[in-house]
Amino acid sequence: MIQSDVHEFRRDLAAWLDEHDAELRLPIEQHPTLDDELAQFRHVKRALFDAGWGRYGWSSAVGGLAGSSMLRAIVGEEIATRDLAEPGLWSMIEVLAPTVIAVGSPELVAAMVPPFLRGDEMWCQGFSEPDSGSDLASLSCRATAVDGGWSVNGQKVWTSFAQLATRCILLTRTGEPGSAHRGITAFFVDMDSPGITYRPIEIQNGRLEFCEVFYDDVFVPADRVLGGVGQGWQVAMNILPYERSTAFWHRGAFLHHRFDALVANVAAAGRRDTGDAHLLGEAFQTLMAFRFRSRETQHRLAGGESLGAETSIDKILIAAADQTLYNAARDLLPGVIEFDTDTAAGHWRWDYLYSKAATIYGGTAEIQRNIVARRLLDLGAEP
Ligand SMILES: Cc1cc2nc3c(=O)[nH]c(=O)nc-3n(C[C@H](O)[C@H](O)[C@H](O)COP(=O)(O)OP(=O)(O)OC[C@H]3O[C@@H](n4cnc5c(N)ncnc54)[C@H](O)[C@@H]3O)c2cc1C
Repeated sequence: MIQSDVHEFRRDLAAWLDEHDAELRLPIEQHPTLDDELAQFRHVKRALFDAGWGRYGWSSAVGGLAGSSMLRAIVGEEIATRDLAEPGLWSMIEVLAPTVIAVGSPELVAAMVPPFLRGDEMWCQGFSEPDSGSDLASLSCRATAVDGGWSVNGQKVWTSFAQLATRCILLTRTGEPGSAHRGITAFFVDMDSPGITYRPIEIQNGRLEFCEVFYDDVFVPADRVLGGVGQGWQVAMNILPYERSTAFWHRGAFLHHRFDALVANVAAAGRRDTGDAHLLGEAFQTLMAFRFRSRETQHRLAGGESLGAETSIDKILIAAADQTLYNAARDLLPGVIEFDTDTAAGHWRWDYLYSKAATIYGGTAEIQRNIVARRLLDLGAEP
């Protein structure tokens, strides 16, 4: 797609969103609960699907209207900067669907992706376990071959939105216990399968963001294997770069939007200190460093390049931008995050606390730096 088309698309989308703004917002009086956010997400997703905007950038095989993935980046950016949907819920499709499309059978893809695109479904990612996070290749949730499919037993943890999800991309061990990344198989699992139970976990901002999920003799049909038996590591490695491209672009846009709100708050408080300007400048600088990097990543993705370890740089930059911005907010709005009780203060507190997770989810900051050092800069192998 040539540059002017992208600009035209953004302009027309923005005009449509302006025109339909009132009907796109469900009435929510206070700081929204996760249920409110899910309802709002579904409402907007459905409206954009019906109007066509939510189908651009996706192939006709999944109910899309084709076009560059850049169009999805623009739609997500407009949604995030207008506070029309919670960015984490909105972007989950960018994290999970491209990989299912890449490795799933045509029948599975045609049946499963459209409901996600329409907002009828939410999916989740069952990778981490109590003893396997950064060292994901040590995971032990086991899948055993049975008549017609597989039986899964084990536990996952930190599965975001598992309690809202209809499907899960689940990593299991199908090889010998010590088979590391070679003995992993990925499945596309229905979350209402008998034997799946979950326990939501409350995070420090009070939200039930994710769950412990228990799998007890869960039957998964043979046609739900993703990418082939023993190929689960490749599936997982395929997912991470997608998360770090379009989904991160959306998050970066949301952070810019919050930066603008911070500048407005600081100006309204009449603060004109050089120290304040320095904090704002630092936040802006880290946001722009991410945006320039991510812009290049969006172009590479749209150009059909496969993304890999170099997206660890995007992950490092967005985590830095997130934390620099909200640390600045805490310093520049003294006492607001700690003590104030109004809705705007609740929003700053929520965002500040959540920013602490930015150096953990999707691969910790330390692991990303290890990848940059070892795989991109060739500074030595894993000890
Ligand atoms: C908000 C949020 C959402 C999440 N959503 C999901 C989800 O949907 N699905 C899912 O499967 N998981 C999810 N996770 C889990 C996330 O992927 C893990 O928390 C992450 O991979 C780190 O694993 P861990 O928590 O076990 O920490 P550990 O791996 O135990 O790490 C602990 C600390 O040790 C450091 N460390 C570990 N190994 C090394 C090393 N080799 N070199 C240097 N330092 C090291 C880490 O950087 C970290 O600081 C989510 C996490 C958060 C915070």
